[in-house]
Amino acid sequence: MQLKEVLDRTHIVSIPTKTNFRGVQLREIALIEGDSNWGEFSPFLEYKTKEAASWLRSAIESAITPFQSNGVDLITVNATLPAVPIEQVAEVLSWFPGCNTVKIKVGTKEDLERIREVFRINAAAQVRLDANGLWSVAEAKEILESLYRDFGSSLEYVEQPCQTLAENKKLKKEISFPLKIAIDENLRKGGNLNEILEVADLLIIKVAPMGGVTSCLQLIEKVDIPVVISSALESSVGISAGVSLATQLLSRNETPVPFGLGTVALLEGDVVSNPLLPVNGKIKVEKVEIDLGKLKKYSVSESRKMWWHQRITDTYRLGSL
Ligand SMILES: [Mg+2]
Repeated sequence: MQLKEVLDRTHIVSIPTKTNFRGVQLREIALIEGDSNWGEFSPFLEYKTKEAASWLRSAIESAITPFQSNGVDLITVNATLPAVPIEQVAEVLSWFPGCNTVKIKVGTKEDLERIREVFRINAAAQVRLDANGLWSVAEAKEILESLYRDFGSSLEYVEQPCQTLAENKKLKKEISFPLKIAIDENLRKGGNLNEILEVADLLIIKVAPMGGVTSCLQLIEKVDIPVVISSALESSVGISAGVSLATQLLSRNETPVPFGLGTVALLEGDVVSNPLLPVNGKIKVEKVEIDLGKLKKYSVSESRKMWWHQRITDTYRLGSL
């Protein structure tokens, strides 16, 4: 798609989030209308042009690629629990009916209380922790040791415990119990794959920040550890790209782990008539249908539109599109 066409076919929306998700309470999203599908360009507002480039590549790829289910009907997803106050934990979990695996955002003072609250509500929960690199090695060790003592094998893995790969490597060496480490930010922010694989037991794969479904498949071909396809708090259009990748893996009989694709549940609204919300722990695999009334409902001011058009222009011109 040429730049002019991308701009002419772009709709900008702003959707409120149900919780404060790492500081985000309004999710601004650019939707690109292709001939047979839509693409989502929604790098967080603070991301610079260089980091946004892969998101635009992914959005254009989705817009020009017809949706295919690859014979897969349903995808198992985890619940995603942001760092909400303890009294809100039960409410957030209720937005993910049937999800027995819960990914808990950690890296705050209430981590232990929040995790205990999840187990209080669902004693059989499988828990994934996501620290987004906020822990030091010492903090990670202390918290993980205490959790492992109490909950043992109910802790499935910890995602990006510390910020740098060197710290995560150190942590892995120093912990004396078999807790798995999943790598997220170190991968999508351009870390060296071989070094990452020395540390990672699993990889978190997000379609938009990694430049689209095709790039993700190329990366997945190179690794032989489990991957967890996840989202970046997107509308159902962005999630649909993750679903498309997931169906390609599942149709090859890759191990069906719950994916992190249930996060539409954290948004106050959506832009499609068939939102990809979890039911019985799964989301349905189907082509999403844009609802023009919702595009209107969540449309933004002229000045925000101009800001996004400039962002798309700058990102497009950076090249590699
Ligand atoms: Mg993460």
